[in-house]
Amino acid sequence: MDFAWSNEQLELREAAKNFALAELNDGVRERDQRSEFNLEGWRKCADFGIHGLPIPVDYGGMGADTLTTVAVLESLGYGCVDNGLIFSVNAHMWTLEVPLLNFGSKEQKARYLPLLCSGTIIGGNAMTESGSGSDAYSLQTTAERRRDKYVLNGSKIFVSNGSIGDLIVVYATTDRSLGPNGICGFLVERNFSGFQVGKPLEKMGLRTSPMAELFFDNCEVPVDNRLGTERSGKSLFAHSMNWERACILASAVGAMQRLLEKSIQYARDRKQFGQAIGKFQLVASKIVDMKMRVDQSRAALYQTAWLQSTGKSTFLEAALVKLTISENWVRCAEDAIQIHGGYGYMVESEVERELRDALGSKLYSGTSEIQRVIAASLLGL
Ligand SMILES: Cc1cc2nc3c(=O)[nH]c(=O)nc-3n(C[C@H](O)[C@H](O)[C@H](O)COP(=O)(O)OP(=O)(O)OC[C@H]3O[C@@H](n4cnc5c(N)ncnc54)[C@H](O)[C@@H]3O)c2cc1C
Repeated sequence: MDFAWSNEQLELREAAKNFALAELNDGVRERDQRSEFNLEGWRKCADFGIHGLPIPVDYGGMGADTLTTVAVLESLGYGCVDNGLIFSVNAHMWTLEVPLLNFGSKEQKARYLPLLCSGTIIGGNAMTESGSGSDAYSLQTTAERRRDKYVLNGSKIFVSNGSIGDLIVVYATTDRSLGPNGICGFLVERNFSGFQVGKPLEKMGLRTSPMAELFFDNCEVPVDNRLGTERSGKSLFAHSMNWERACILASAVGAMQRLLEKSIQYARDRKQFGQAIGKFQLVASKIVDMKMRVDQSRAALYQTAWLQSTGKSTFLEAALVKLTISENWVRCAEDAIQIHGGYGYMVESEVERELRDALGSKLYSGTSEIQRVIAASLLGL
């Protein structure tokens, strides 16, 4: 394990940070209030190469290894205060691009990956249903094969990028009697007949990342758009979730570092009882705890990314890194508010939004409870 960065990696990290600081932060507070997606920022990220970071150059990506990818995402998360925009980018990368790269046919990859890397089309995945969240494999949406098509019926909820997505991996069952083994993934284009997007869902945090319910009413999907084989949906989803858990919170490590620095600055500047509040040990210890959480999260992120790139099984590490970073992020955001006092509770401080954004990380890609359930079972319990 070698985490000494090359000059090239360091330059890329610095460039991503400077790009984010300069290009992605205008008007975030207003967009958060209006639940508005930053399409211009999305395109700028794509032009920088973010969307295609882990995708081979032949398909329009940057061809970066996993460690470089998470390091660049960490820098992006440090520089960009729009956690919703970054979440949308992550959903696009980890739930669509990477599964497509690993399970897609040559034709599917050639057709979609360049468009996904260039940000021309927006993607995501749709697994969760109103009756199946943590118990994802109990989904009810069906896919019936009719000659050269599958006909999908059912609905999905909480789909990130759902209202703006052009291409979504939709999970459905071709045979309910097979349980999880009957599940199959489909590349569903927005304009396929019988596909309908519901009203956008308003969220507590990550409000600049659009989310919607999706409906399938005899939705016709060409057989060519099946992702993987008919019985491979379970492993496709498990693979997709593993990448998601391992990498989706890289930007959160950057966000935590930003919160730490902002809190240190505030603790130095804010005076009470005739001295800087950072001189009070009860305040200083919160900052030290924040620093411990950032460092612990970063180490876990790099270790998991490195392991992921070796091709070894990382189910345990991916569950643990997701759990570690999400819980640390929430606690860092809580501490940052406490250190900022009443000002931290005000929208203008831009600290309260960080807590709202961070909280979602304990829910998506499997809740904290589910990460613990997975880890316990992989520990033989
Ligand atoms: C911001 C955000 C983005 C999302 N994006 C997507 C997306 O793009 N695509 C998609 O398909 N889904 C998405 N989801 C849905 C997400 O995956 C689910 O919300 C999550 O898996 C939990 O499912 P649920 O909400 O139905 O909760 P439930 O499964 O109903 O869980 C409710 C509570 O019970 C607990 N619980 C459930 N089972 C167990 C158990 N076995 N042991 C212990 N505790 C348990 C849970 O941890 C939770 O606390 C997103 C969710 C959020 C919040």
